[in-house]
Amino acid sequence: MMEKAFADVGLEWRYLTLEVAPEALGDAVRGMRAMGFRGCNLTIPHKVEVIQHLDGTSEAATLMGAVNCVNRIDGKLIGDNTDGKGFVQSLRELTDPAGKNVIILGAGGAARAIAVEVALAGAAAMTIVNRTEGRGQELAALINDKANVPTQFVLWEGDYEVPPEAEVVINATSIGLGDAAARVPLAVDSLESDMVVADVVFNPPETRLLRDAKSRGCETLDGLGMLVNQAVIGFNIWTGRDANPSVMREALEEFLGF
Ligand code: NDP
Repeated sequence: MMEKAFADVGLEWRYLTLEVAPEALGDAVRGMRAMGFRGCNLTIPHKVEVIQHLDGTSEAATLMGAVNCVNRIDGKLIGDNTDGKGFVQSLRELTDPAGKNVIILGAGGAARAIAVEVALAGAAAMTIVNRTEGRGQELAALINDKANVPTQFVLWEGDYEVPPEAEVVINATSIGLGDAAARVPLAVDSLESDMVVADVVFNPPETRLLRDAKSRGCETLDGLGMLVNQAVIGFNIWTGRDANPSVMREALEEFLGF
């Protein structure tokens, strides 16, 4: 996806996929500095651990306590997080999160990144729904205390009833990943046609939740847009130029075999 976008704007840059063992992360970051890398993306299990090896983090990455994108600025390595920004950019194609009542299902890495960015984008109120109480409480407290958006935690037991005041409902769990029939435990008839329903799962892009939401008349957003947009944002951070999202989406769909 990234190399196709580099080629599209005439940049002879490379984007390498390198597997780094957890105990070698510090050496890998020193190697990046030594070899003059412009930046990198990081994924599990490095998103938190990498922070101690960097020179600073953006506001969002500081709030989240996780970095998925590093950029070299004046010789310093600065960590950012593009996952939540990619999501918000996708969401804005359907609705502006500013002033909205937002429900987030899940409290893992993706939920955390999305909750912080949706809060920074000006959401009016948020509800974190999670199966494991500790993780859910912690995320709700973070958004309440650090992002100043009134946020409640709801323990996820049985089918979640979406409250009628909800305007945006986001599945940020891994339910549906690799299984188009997997069911998010949610009362489908509590979804109303004026709600926007989004799913972070991108493979398959049309999850059961999105099919159910469409059957209730909701507008829906799949996880592919978030994935493409976080790459578009990373591209811009590193190169200072705009990528063509359709080139990236095409490359991603080809890679995933759609
Ligand atoms: P984590 O493991 O950090 O979090 C998983 C979350 O899902 C937790 O809240 C967990 O709850 C919840 N969960 C998992 N299974 C169930 C279940 N059966 N019932 C209820 N809750 C469940 O994963 P990530 O946050 O990193 O990733 C989540 C998803 O987001 C993945 O599918 C990933 O592919 C996708 N993703 C998509 C991106 C995109 O660009 N589209 C970017 C990043 C991630 P609990 O705390 O109780 O365990």
